[in-house]
Amino acid sequence: MSIALITGGSRGIGKATALLLAQQGLRVVVNYHRDRQAAQEVVEEITRAGGEALAWQADVSDEQQVVTMFTAIDEAWGPVNVLVNNAGILATQCRVEYLTAERINRVLSTNVTGYFLCCREAVKRMSTEHGGSGGAIVNVSSVAARLGSPGEYVDYAASKGAVDTLTIGLSLEVAAQGIRVNGVRPGFIYTEMHASGGEPGRVDRVAPAIPMRRGGQPEEVAQAIAWLVSDSASYVTGSFIDLAGGK
Ligand code: NAP
Repeated sequence: MSIALITGGSRGIGKATALLLAQQGLRVVVNYHRDRQAAQEVVEEITRAGGEALAWQADVSDEQQVVTMFTAIDEAWGPVNVLVNNAGILATQCRVEYLTAERINRVLSTNVTGYFLCCREAVKRMSTEHGGSGGAIVNVSSVAARLGSPGEYVDYAASKGAVDTLTIGLSLEVAAQGIRVNGVRPGFIYTEMHASGGEPGRVDRVAPAIPMRRGGQPEEVAQAIAWLVSDSASYVTGSFIDLAGGK
């Protein structure tokens, strides 16, 4: 049975992905940072439906916590063969001329360093060169990587540009080692993330400017992630699926 780690699996896109992968028969590790209760509720929802899940607290930007998390999964279930790098943050809407180094580094350490560290630990376990039996990684990026998020959070958009480059580079590094690495780029999805940017109603505000005239649901992103990690996508690597209503 496949073992999937979903970082930031306690709410939003990560939660929708955890529920869907569990429904499809994968064992799911629901990583979270602060909200233990939310993660535990996802685990209980999966368990009630007959699936297998466990919650694990780790700050993905902290190297030791990431290593400890992967080791704990090894001991509980065995090595992961699916990684969904999803835990991401943004900060209050702000123009570049007012950004501080502290804020830029905070965003980059979760959104970029965190993704690198989880990829590193996953590759060590999945790679056929390390004795693994292959696997699939999906990095959750954003259309912000190509739109730039002017006037809102260029630091966040830049972090997603880095995620896309990580996806391309790593996919080529490990293509011959049984590991597929792909990305999804959601657009404007109804989650709590927008509140941390200072505008909970952001999706509704921008909806009229989206070609499809609506925001997206976390479940719509989860469907693309589930396809990319499945055997149905067995010849797909280094690819991206944009989920942004045409934006
Ligand atoms: P969200 O609702 O804000 O949820 C974020 C999740 O990440 C939570 O489970 C949170 O856990 C976890 N998290 C935050 N920092 C963490 C850390 N340092 N270590 C471990 N977990 C951490 O976010 P979302 O909207 O679902 O976004 C998920 C991903 O999609 C992000 O990478 C985001 O950039 C991307 N995305 C979202 C949108 C959108 O419109 N929503 C668009 C494009 C891309 P706690 O609650 O425990 O802190």
